[in-house]
Amino acid sequence: MIGSIDIGGTKTLVGLVDRGRIVIHERFATVTESWQEHFEQASLRLEKLCERAGWQTDSLDGIGVSLPGMVNESRGVLLLAPYAGWKNVPARDFFRRRLKNTNVFVENDVNACAVGEWTLGHAKGMQDFLWVTVSTGVGGAVMANGRLVHGAAQVAGEIGHVKVEFAAPRPCTCGQEGCLEAHASGTAISREFTQYIEKTPEAAQRCAALQLPIDARGCRMLADDGDAGAARILGDAARWLGRGLSAALNLLNPEAVFIGGGVGQSLDVLLPGIREVIAQEVVTPARSVPILYTKLGYNAAFLGAACLPEYERRKQHDF
Ligand SMILES: [Zn+2]
Repeated sequence: MIGSIDIGGTKTLVGLVDRGRIVIHERFATVTESWQEHFEQASLRLEKLCERAGWQTDSLDGIGVSLPGMVNESRGVLLLAPYAGWKNVPARDFFRRRLKNTNVFVENDVNACAVGEWTLGHAKGMQDFLWVTVSTGVGGAVMANGRLVHGAAQVAGEIGHVKVEFAAPRPCTCGQEGCLEAHASGTAISREFTQYIEKTPEAAQRCAALQLPIDARGCRMLADDGDAGAARILGDAARWLGRGLSAALNLLNPEAVFIGGGVGQSLDVLLPGIREVIAQEVVTPARSVPILYTKLGYNAAFLGAACLPEYERRKQHDF
């Protein structure tokens, strides 16, 4: 039985996972004012859930923690969580001490998703693959030779900041411009869609009639309803995604690419545009890579966090 804590930018999930099956879990808002208070809250809730399921935190086989930012996993430190503003947080030591369990491991959330896909999902048995989340932002994880690649400064796999637009680049949260995240994230699609609705009365009326949200999800739904403008916004996002992925495919030649996140759920609509660009920009042997929606669904980081203790154990024994 594994304890799992998935701390997201806005929501946190805690619970117990047994061989990939969620036994019990609970979701609550991430409070960003103080990491100590929030981590204490997550610990308390995990203790209570353990009690209800007849366990104690010190008797769990391990506890995995996924964190929303740059993580030095070997030191167990959250270096920077941009949304929360947390810096140099000794996450692993906090939870080891607080939950009286020495088998606590922490990872960046997208890396946790990749470990989850590898352990429970479509990536079982693969050595080289890419996991990309297209959500509020765009993040990536690289598994190479059966190990996560962290890089010299823990920012390997940051596909969201690969430059994809040079003619009309938009500013990115990282301070640069033309990044994949600035053009194809849920935030970027929502912004485009909002502008489109503001200047297109017929589309605005249709949205109101269908009670669609004015965001990336609404854009997808309006495109499904036959609106050419909404379809064009998604088509553009798909081509930018294709460009970002092409850079990664030429560099890493993975066996597969897995897509998660809210916008990732529209992979069926995005895939033709992504494929079109890949056909133009990727060297032939790396081109026919399968691009699949994650098997882990909405709880990918939570399930992935639960796979971290086993991943660490295998890493120590297999290499
Ligand atoms: Zn950027």
